[in-house]
Parts: sequence; C-alpha cells; structure tokens
Amino acid sequence: MTQLYDPSPVELVHLQRCVELATEALADGDEPFGSVLVDGAGRVRFEERNRVGGGDATRHPEIEIARWAAAHLSPQERAGCTVYTSGEHCPMCAAAHGWVGLGRIVFAASSAQLSDWLTEWAEPAAPVAPLPITTVVPGLPVAGPVASLAEQVRALHARQRGRR
Ligand code: ZN
Repeated sequence: MTQLYDPSPVELVHLQRCVELATEALADGDEPFGSVLVDGAGRVRFEERNRVGGGDATRHPEIEIARWAAAHLSPQERAGCTVYTSGEHCPMCAAAHGWVGLGRIVFAASSAQLSDWLTEWAEPAAPVAPLPITTVVPGLPVAGPVASLAEQVRALHARQRGRR
C-alpha cells in the first residue's frame, strides 16, 4: 500500500512547478519529468527538465541538479537543500544526489507508481530497476507520492504514450 504525502502550501508550489516543467518537456519531445532545487533559505536555485529527446537517455533533470549543486554550492549548502521532482529519482539520479550530498527529496509520483502504470498500459518496463531512492541512498529523508499531483503526472505519461 502506497503511503501518500500531504505537502505544505510552499511544497505544493514547488511540486506544481515540477509538473509544469514536465509538461514543457513533453511538449518539446522529451519525457515528462521536471525538478527544482530549493536551498535552505527556501530560494529556488536551479530548475531543469528531462532532455532525452536528443538521444542521450541520461539527460534527467535530477542528475543535472546534482551536477549544478556540486559546481555551485558548498557541501553545507547542499545538505540544506531540498529537491522537488515530478517523478521519484531513478537509481542513477538518486546515486548522483547521494554522492554530492544533497538533502531531502519530495516527489509527486513514485517510481513504483510509474512502474505500475507501464504494466497497466502493457508498455515495456524501464531498462533500469525502479528502486526506491532510500534503497540507493539509505537514510535520506524523502516524501511522496502526492495523490493529486501523481494523477497529473500519470496523465502526462499517458499522453506521452498516446493514451489520452
Ligand atoms: Zn534519473
């Protein structure tokens, strides 16, 4: 049974921005994923969306955020950051997040949900296992999925696969 997260109004704003970025990505021929990096003072420092349409399947927003944070923030600043994202980090991005020492993650839809949707739609599974973030980065504080937003994310993935 999935445990749902009830975000604060501020968290909801950041998550909605992630869904907006995911929508932009889809409109531009990429996959519908978007993420936002917020520092300990609550300021948005960086945002990115999926850019795999060019053929590089590693162009996920969360790994770009980890790289940006490594280049621009001190280890202490990184630890105080929260990453908001439309879809739970994949193992590659979770590992990057853990390696650069970023803080909490809040996601709209979980990897398990995406995996279930693909099964439901008889779509091939992703080539990388849908491990929970905390399996890759033990002890990291994570929150999600968020019911209303996961529904929006599901609709984007449905649209990507021509199921709308
Ligand atoms: Zn990823």
